[in-house]
Amino acid sequence: MARKSLLSEVKETQLAIELIEAGARLQVLESETALSRERLLKLYKEVRGESPPKGMLPFSTDWFLTWLPNVHSSLFINIYRYLIKNGNCEGIEGVLKAYKLYQEYLKTNEIEEVLSFTRAWTLVRFFDSKMLETTQCSKCGGHFVVHPDDLHDDYLCGLCHMPSRAGKTKKAREALEAEQHGVAA
Ligand SMILES: [Zn+2]
Repeated sequence: MARKSLLSEVKETQLAIELIEAGARLQVLESETALSRERLLKLYKEVRGESPPKGMLPFSTDWFLTWLPNVHSSLFINIYRYLIKNGNCEGIEGVLKAYKLYQEYLKTNEIEEVLSFTRAWTLVRFFDSKMLETTQCSKCGGHFVVHPDDLHDDYLCGLCHMPSRAGKTKKAREALEAEQHGVAA
């Protein structure tokens, strides 16, 4: 094997291992590295001690718009954009770095992980193909993942507009109205 191709083989293998450790699915590995499927399968088994899960990658944008996934997706995409804008990383390296920072943030704040690496990778692809974008919350000013076709006037993010049971919402609204009218609730 020529020296140059050996070097790229080593690099590709390192990248594949990093991706597998982060939790990437086989489809992600196949699209981000030039290694053969057989080689990737072997690497996957070596790193994780089991075969990769079968099945298609999550394809729909809907998941990213549901409440809790949206909060996590927005956190991730903000980290990713920051890195791309200010760091010297790009492409898959940016996704990997952003994902590690996302995981660190969760660990520090004792929050359960919602966004898998493969979901994060898919999210970036959706942004690249303009199937998703962010808009600013009119209350907190944060940037949140939205569908480009929806209207975003006076957009309220999932944190400023928490879903709750109907009864709770009614009570909260009554309390708020009472407060606004200067009446003790
Ligand atoms: Zn908000």
